[in-house]
Amino acid sequence: MTRMMTPLLLWAVLAAGCSAEPAGQRAAADGAGRAATGITSMPGFDAGRLLQRIEVLSSDEFEGRAPGTKGEELTVTYLEEEFRKLGLQPGNTDGTYIQNVPLVGITVTNTQPLTVTSGGRKESFKWADEVVAWTKHVAETAAIRDSDLIFAGYGVTAPEFDWDDFKDVDVKGKTIVVLVNDPQVPDPSDPSRLDPKLFNGEAMTYYGRWTYKFEEGARRGAAGILIVHETGPAGYPFPVVQGFLRERFDLVTPDKNMGRAAIEGWLSLDAARRLLQVAGHDFDALKKQALTREFRPVPLGMGASLAVRTSMRTLDSRNVLAKLEGADPKLRDEYVVYTAHWDHLGVGAPVNGDAIYNGALDNASGVSKLLEIARAFTEVQPRPRRSILFLMVTAEEQGLLGSQHYTVSPVYPLERTLANINVDTVNQWGRTKDVTVIGMGASDLDDYLQEAAAQQGRTLRPDPEPEKGFYYRSDHFNFAKQGVPALYIDSGEEFIGKPAEYGRQKRDEYTNNDYHAPSDEIKPDWDLSGAVEDAELLFLVGYRVANAERYPEWKPGNEFRATREKMLGR
Ligand SMILES: [Zn+2]
Repeated sequence: MTRMMTPLLLWAVLAAGCSAEPAGQRAAADGAGRAATGITSMPGFDAGRLLQRIEVLSSDEFEGRAPGTKGEELTVTYLEEEFRKLGLQPGNTDGTYIQNVPLVGITVTNTQPLTVTSGGRKESFKWADEVVAWTKHVAETAAIRDSDLIFAGYGVTAPEFDWDDFKDVDVKGKTIVVLVNDPQVPDPSDPSRLDPKLFNGEAMTYYGRWTYKFEEGARRGAAGILIVHETGPAGYPFPVVQGFLRERFDLVTPDKNMGRAAIEGWLSLDAARRLLQVAGHDFDALKKQALTREFRPVPLGMGASLAVRTSMRTLDSRNVLAKLEGADPKLRDEYVVYTAHWDHLGVGAPVNGDAIYNGALDNASGVSKLLEIARAFTEVQPRPRRSILFLMVTAEEQGLLGSQHYTVSPVYPLERTLANINVDTVNQWGRTKDVTVIGMGASDLDDYLQEAAAQQGRTLRPDPEPEKGFYYRSDHFNFAKQGVPALYIDSGEEFIGKPAEYGRQKRDEYTNNDYHAPSDEIKPDWDLSGAVEDAELLFLVGYRVANAERYPEWKPGNEFRATREKMLGR
């Protein structure tokens, strides 16, 4: 791939005195940008360093970086060393680079397959192929036994949309079958799209996330919760769900997670169709019924049984954190927090003979990018007025647990945390004219991002797949939930010198072939020139926030704004 050297890049290369470097390997703020940020010495960002760290973290030796494994030991040691080499201070107030995250790991064995009985008819479903289930109970066994099955539509109770799938139906002790995603209600004036007044139209809200379905079912006392998997609405194919059969982790809670349903799980679409057929119902007809406010849960007249045995272990996993102290004594106890999750899926079921889930893109790449941003903060002149925390969290893949732990038990108060900037994966396909903002319009951070992007001659674009709910699928979401404005970007769509559909094509390729698969490895065609620009972009955003006169805020109407106002005593 060849790239034109733009005047901006040419300036950067000359100014940095590294004319031997290929164009696009280095980018820097232009003169106007320097004036806007007050930066007198702009640090460099390097694709070679970025790749080198990804090579280490995603090597087979690191065994896919599962919490509690040799992979964790190696990763934590590596990150501490990198932080030290950069001259960053320990991020924890106890003088270490570590925040312990107490986890319980549960592996289930299926002892009784899902069996439904209706009248004299009995039907069983194949474990893993048709049913994927687990328990979060910290107990030796968990089961549903002849539990009444109820189809509960989307399993959503959303007062702000005047929507309640449960009505007055008591599902205590029962097993609910629910659909994934938000209710997909067509717009009455244009049925080709979704009603923008309900569940934000095409965009997924938290009500559409599978984690929400299990939380809401548990609030209502359901014994079992089974989500019907559909690739489109879920955002990923069934094998991703089957991946949940590996050991699963949770934060250790005082009630041993007995507040959760005994059995949580998924049905493949075919299994769900067959199950409903046995009950004399048609899946498509029920799904259609579920698209109205008038929907009421449908008792299926069947009992469901399923049992699992668990093996458990508790372990202290670790968040790894380092800080750069702010230059202004009056502001240095205020923070901008960068996050990236270091964990991935470890060693699992082999695919094409490969059992190591290397997670090169997810998220060795994000960790490496964050270290590149951290390096920039150690080099930039003048230093930022406020402090910067670099937080590498654990157990993201297990349900954002490391970031949940940090935001529930923060090292530095969240009311003095101005913003979270999260990195999960990087753009590995070259430079783009734009940058995608997940959840665009959420907070003032978008304005900072816009200015920084303009400095690079780039533009912002909204998430092209808001229906997949990416805003709820990485660590910044835990900061948002607690009220801290959080920024999360993704690769742009307009790749320089590539056809218009290139970005979408590449993204679909990755989702279908490599996402959460052993083949998430460094590929020969990777081009990290775009990732380097994105690193600079996020550095500039954090730098500006750290020097800003006022705290960034959620935009009016945002679902997290009230929490922040309350936290800040407004
Ligand atoms: Zn990730």
